[in-house]
Amino acid sequence: MSNKNYYEILGVNSNASDSEIKSAFKKQAIKYHPDRNKGNAEAEKKFKEINEAYQVLSDANKRASYDRVGHDAYTKGASYGSSSSGGFEGFDMDFDLGDIFSSFFTGGFGGGKTKRGPKPGEDLEYRLTLTFDEAVFGCTKDIFIKRKDRCGVCSGTGSKAGTDKTTCDKCHGSGQIKVQRNTPFGSMVSMTTCSKCSGAGKINLNPCVNCRGNGKVNAEKKITIDIPRGIDTGQVISMRGEGEVGDLGAPSGDLYITINVMNSNKFKRKGNDVFTDHHIPIWLAILGGESVIETLDGEYKINIKEGTQSGTVQVLKGKGVHKVNSNFRGEHHVNIIVDIPSIHNESQRQAVEMLKETYAGNKEYFSEKKQENKKKGFKKFFSF
Ligand SMILES: [Zn+2]
Ligand SMILES: [Zn+2]
Repeated sequence: MSNKNYYEILGVNSNASDSEIKSAFKKQAIKYHPDRNKGNAEAEKKFKEINEAYQVLSDANKRASYDRVGHDAYTKGASYGSSSSGGFEGFDMDFDLGDIFSSFFTGGFGGGKTKRGPKPGEDLEYRLTLTFDEAVFGCTKDIFIKRKDRCGVCSGTGSKAGTDKTTCDKCHGSGQIKVQRNTPFGSMVSMTTCSKCSGAGKINLNPCVNCRGNGKVNAEKKITIDIPRGIDTGQVISMRGEGEVGDLGAPSGDLYITINVMNSNKFKRKGNDVFTDHHIPIWLAILGGESVIETLDGEYKINIKEGTQSGTVQVLKGKGVHKVNSNFRGEHHVNIIVDIPSIHNESQRQAVEMLKETYAGNKEYFSEKKQENKKKGFKKFFSF
């Protein structure tokens, strides 16, 4: 926890009104809410601080004692609180973030009557492995996920057909019990969840047999996913409402599908570009001509220039992988490799000997320019 005091955390004056505190909290809580800052530890820490500050400053009793003893003494006391052996009782800092946030938005805030709202369903994660082609060209995939779904027998009410839940006699339906504690700062009243109904406010006397009163059942659901062409490892497809079912009246969670793409034995891929090696015989390299390569679109004819060196890279624009949801395509880099044949008979040996003689006395077999191209080509291809 930072050494800032609660007023500084919320960005208000120490004499701020309740409504100023409330609106400052709302602004900050929305900004740092975990749903908006997935995986951001800093934001999560901030969010906890903001909530902690709001817990205290929004409660008149807590705020008064906080003002009296100061930040350090107060937070120290609070951390002892849960052991209930000494220190200051009544401040439970171990709260559920989602709970606070939902109570905040269902209007149950400002202390006092905070009735637990129905809980939204959990988000689910799924890792999906695709072949190289499936990712490059797109496809549809069926996946099967295990999740909690609404009980079909009771439609999620958790009660047997024709029966209703009765109001809890302990909390009279509020789901909360008032607890009074005596502390060094005087008598403090706080609310705690009713133990008889677990905060529901109602008791289920005739639970549905299918879901045992839960309203939810474990299910396996088939989900068909449209995989867009060009998707790559690490990208996430999110499907709203395909997570676990929420409590009656609350939304379902979301499903997040993280993509993993298998390697191809033909193409190397980096982002939207693909890379291949292409072997040509030495006479094609010397004389130049046409050669057929394999691209993502199938066979494709490229021109080999006269005197092409091994390691020359040809870049084919627009022959790479599509960008997701776009017509843009990356490049296909073709790394030319010149194959040196071995000699199988005497006439082949004579031919090479003749070739050698035609170059006799000519030290510069290759022009300087071509030498340079050769180096560049290598560098470019092996730079990733
Ligand atoms: Zn049921
Ligand atoms: Zn109750």
